[in-house]
Amino acid sequence: MAAATFDVVDPATEEVVASVDDATPADARAAVDRAAAAFPGWSATPPRERAEVLRRAYELLVARADDVAATIVGENGKPVAEAKGEVTYAAEFFRWFSEEAVRMAGSVVDAPGGGGKLLTLQQPVGVSLLITPWNFPAAMLTRKIGPALAAGCTVVAKPAELTPLTAILIGDVLRAAGAPDGVVEIVATTDAAGVVEAILDDARVRKLSFTGSTEVGRLLLAQAAKRIVNCSMELGGNAPFLVFADADLDAAVEGAMVAKMRNGGEACTAANRFYVERPVAEEFGRRLAEKMKALRMGPGLDDGVQLGPLVNTDAVEKVDELVRGAVDAGAEAVVGGRRPSDEKYSAGFYYEPTVLLDVQPGSKILEEEIFGPVAPVVTFDEEDEAVRLANATEYGLVSYVYTGDLARGLRVSEGLDSGMVGLNRGLVSDPAAPFGGTKQSGIGREGGHDGMLDYLESKYIAVQW
Ligand code: ADP
Repeated sequence: MAAATFDVVDPATEEVVASVDDATPADARAAVDRAAAAFPGWSATPPRERAEVLRRAYELLVARADDVAATIVGENGKPVAEAKGEVTYAAEFFRWFSEEAVRMAGSVVDAPGGGGKLLTLQQPVGVSLLITPWNFPAAMLTRKIGPALAAGCTVVAKPAELTPLTAILIGDVLRAAGAPDGVVEIVATTDAAGVVEAILDDARVRKLSFTGSTEVGRLLLAQAAKRIVNCSMELGGNAPFLVFADADLDAAVEGAMVAKMRNGGEACTAANRFYVERPVAEEFGRRLAEKMKALRMGPGLDDGVQLGPLVNTDAVEKVDELVRGAVDAGAEAVVGGRRPSDEKYSAGFYYEPTVLLDVQPGSKILEEEIFGPVAPVVTFDEEDEAVRLANATEYGLVSYVYTGDLARGLRVSEGLDSGMVGLNRGLVSDPAAPFGGTKQSGIGREGGHDGMLDYLESKYIAVQW
C-alpha cells in the first residue's frame, strides 16, 4: 500500500508546493529502531570523525544555501533575504558543534576526604527525539542536531507539519556529509500527537528536545514524566523592549525593527512589548511608525520584499484578535491594525505592520505572544517601574534594553528575569552563545558550550589507584 501523503502550502499564494509522506506511529517506531541500532556505532565513532561529518554538513549547507532558502520561503513565507540569513545561521550550528565535538572534557580530582580519586566522564545521553517548529525550519533543527551528533547521540527529528521540506533537505545534507544510516531520522507527519507518543513510549529514547509553544511543552513534559525522559525545552516568550530617555534613539529604533520584525514577528525572541521612558516616548513611537509603514510587504521571493505573509490563516486571526482587543480597550493604531485590503493580497496570509500607542495595562496583547508584525508601545517614568513591568510575565526568554548609560544597562540587565538580554542590541541569537529561557520559557540552553551539555550525562567513577 502506498504511504499516505500530506500537502505543504505556500503561505504567500495558498497553493500546494509539495506532498510529503505522512509518517504513522508504526513508521516512527521503525525510525527509533534504526536510530537505536546506529547509536552504539555512532557514539563509539571518534569525536574527530563526528566533527568532520558536521563540518562537511556545514560546507554543504552553505553551498546549497540558495536551494534551502527557496524551500524555506516556499513553506514558511519569509522574505528570501531572511531565509538566506537563516540558512547561514543554521549552518553555523554545524560548524560550531563540529568544533565543540572534540572538547568534551571530563575531570579527575582527589577526593576531598582522601582515599581515592573522583573521575568524571561525559557520555552521550542516547537516542534523542527532536521536535521543531515552523518559524525557523532550518535553524531550530540544526541547533539540536549539531550538539546531539557532536555528543554521540543519534536522533529522530519531527519537524512541524507546516514546514517539513526544509527538514527533509537537512536530512539529505547530513547523509551526503557522511552521517551513517540511522544517525539522523526525519519523521514528517500530520499526527504529531500519535507519532510523538509512540516515540516517547519507547524505552530506548532517552532525550526529548522541544522548541515550540509553552502549551505543547507542558503537555510533553507530562508525557516525558512517565519514563523520566531527559528534557530540554525552548518555549514561548513575551520579550519586553525597554528604551530609556538617555538611549541613542536612532539605534533604539533600528534595534526595535530587528527585534520586532525579524521573521515578521514570528519568533519567540520577538519584542512583544515596548516600554519607553516618557520624555522620548512620542518621538520613539513616531519614528517606529514611520519605519513600519515603509516596509514592503509581499511574497518572499519578490524583489525588495521585507515582510512576508504570516504562516497560516489561524496566525492572522490570532494577531487580529489581539489588536482588536487592544484598540477596543483604548489603544490607537497609528499604522496598520488590520489585514490589507488591496487586491494583490487577496491570496496569502498577510497582516499589515502595526504600531499601537497608548496600550492599556492589562491588555491581552501585553500578556500573550503576538507572533506577528505588531508593536504595542507603553510609556513609563521610573527605572524600577520599567523593570517591574518587564518582569510581570510568566515568560522569561529574552529582554531588550536601550540606554546610553552602561552602568544602568548592566544594572537593569541583572534585574531582568530572562535567560537572555540584548543590551543596545536587537538581536541576541548566536550559535556560540547559550540560548534559552527562565520561568515558563524553558529548560536548558542551546548553542555555546552549554548546548552540548544538554546531550551529555556525567558519569562519575570513584577510583582507587
Ligand atoms: P506553534 O504554536 O509555534 O505552532 P506548537 O507548539 O504547536 O508551536 O508546535 C511545535 C511543534 O510541536 C511542532 O512540531 C508540532 O507538530 C508539535 N506538536 C504540536 N502538538 C503536539 C502534541 N500534542 N504532541 C507532540 N507534538 C506536538
